[in-house]
Amino acid sequence: MAKGDRSEIMAYVTHLRCSRCGSEYRLEDGKVICDRDDLGRLDIYYDYEAISRTLTKETLEERRGGVWRYFELLPVSRRSSIVSLGEGGTPMIRSERLSKHLGLKNLYLKDETRNPTASFKDRSMTVGVSKAVELGVKKTCTASSGNAAAALAAYSAKAGLECYAFVLEEASIGKISQLQLYGAKVFRVRRVEEEVDPTVQLLRLVVKNYGWYPCPSFGPFNPYQVEGPKTISYEIVEQLGWRIPDWILIPTGSACLLAGIWKGLKDYYELGWIDHLPRLAAIQSTGNAPFVRAFKERMDPMNIEPWRNPRTVASGLMDPYPWDGDAGLIALRETDGVAEAVPDNLILEAQKLLASMEGVFAEPSGAAGLAGAMKLLEDGVIDPSDEVVVLVTGSGLKDPDIVKSMFAEPPTIGPSLEEFTRMLSRLG
Ligand SMILES: *Cc1c(COP(=O)(O)O)cnc(C)c1O
Ligand SMILES: [Zn+2]
Repeated sequence: MAKGDRSEIMAYVTHLRCSRCGSEYRLEDGKVICDRDDLGRLDIYYDYEAISRTLTKETLEERRGGVWRYFELLPVSRRSSIVSLGEGGTPMIRSERLSKHLGLKNLYLKDETRNPTASFKDRSMTVGVSKAVELGVKKTCTASSGNAAAALAAYSAKAGLECYAFVLEEASIGKISQLQLYGAKVFRVRRVEEEVDPTVQLLRLVVKNYGWYPCPSFGPFNPYQVEGPKTISYEIVEQLGWRIPDWILIPTGSACLLAGIWKGLKDYYELGWIDHLPRLAAIQSTGNAPFVRAFKERMDPMNIEPWRNPRTVASGLMDPYPWDGDAGLIALRETDGVAEAVPDNLILEAQKLLASMEGVFAEPSGAAGLAGAMKLLEDGVIDPSDEVVVLVTGSGLKDPDIVKSMFAEPPTIGPSLEEFTRMLSRLG
C-alpha cells in the first residue's frame, strides 16, 4: 500500500483481556493466545466513543458489501490486510408459507448458506485470515474437517498462506477432498486418550513448537475470528429497519457463534443504536448437548462438563466441549435467553420444511435453529406473535448423503404418455 493512503487507519481496539487469568494485551502485541497458555480467550474490547466519531448509522447505510462494511468494529488495523471472498451481506428472508404452517406470525430466515464456502464460518475466517496477513504469518492451522476448516482453507488459499488441517481419523473423504482442493495439507490424527480430541491436542503442540497461526473457530485458540460472526447481528438489526426482534435462534456447537451474535448486539447497544437486546436461544441436538446441560444445570461457566460419545446428524454441532461456552452462558444470562436440545428427527424435519416450503437448502446443523423454534413454540416459550429470527447457518450441499437417505429413488420410465400416466396414478 502507498504511504499516506487515507484508508490506513488504526483499529479502534482498546485492549485484549484473557477470559481466564485477566492478563491484558494491546492489539499491537499481536497475541493470538494468552502467554500463560491457560486456554483463556483474549476477549477484544473497543473504544466506542472513537468509533462513533467515524461510524454513524448514516455512513453505514451508504456503504456496500458484507462483513467489511463494519471495518471499525473489527480487530484489523489496515484495510490493505483484508482477505475477502465476498462474504456476508446475506439475505433475511421473510417466511410466508412456513410461518403460516408453524403458526408463527413473524418468522425471518437469515440465510448464511449464501456465503462463499456455504456456511457462516466464512465471516469468521475472513477476519481470522486477514489478521494472519496483518501479523505476517505464512502458515495457518486448524483442528477440524468441517465448515470452519473449509473456510480457513479457502481464505488461506486466497491469501497465499499454507494451511494445515488436522482431522479425525474417521473424517469423511468428501470433507477431506474439499480441503485438499483448496490446497490445504490434511493430516488424519489417531485418538490415543478417550476424553481428549487428538486434533486439538496436536494443534496445541504444533502452535507451541512451530509457531504457526492457529485459526479454528474456537475463541481460546483465536480471538480474532470470533469477531466475524458479530456482523450477522449488525445485518439483522439493519435489515429489520433498526428494530430488535424478540428472538434470535442459534445452532450451537462450540458456542462461538452464540458469543459472536451477543457481542455484535452489545456493540450496537454500546454505540446507542439499539436500546435493548433480543432474547437469544442456543439450540443443540439431544445427541450432543453439553452446552444445554450446562445451562440447565447452572454449571460454572468456567467448568463446563464435556459430553461423552456425541452422536448427531448435525455434524457442525458435534463439539463435545463448547470452547466458548463460558461466554455463551453469560450471553444467555444477560439476554434472558434459553438453551434447548432437539432430537435429530426434528432437525431433519426442519431441514425438509426449509427446503420444501421456503426454498432454502440447509444442512442439518443449519436447520437446527428452526427445529429449536418449533420446539420452543410448542413448549410455549416462544409466543406465536413474537418476531423470530432463525439463523440458517450452512448449506445442504455440505452433506448430500443425509439428503439422499431421506428419499426413495425416483421412478424410471420411458418417454411415453402411457407409462407416465400409469406411474402418476400409481404414485397417487
Ligand atoms: C460451526 C457451525 C455451527 C455452530 O457454531 P459454533 O460456533 O460451533 O457454536 C452451526 N452451524 C453450522 C453450519 C456450523 O458450521
Ligand atoms: Zn490467561
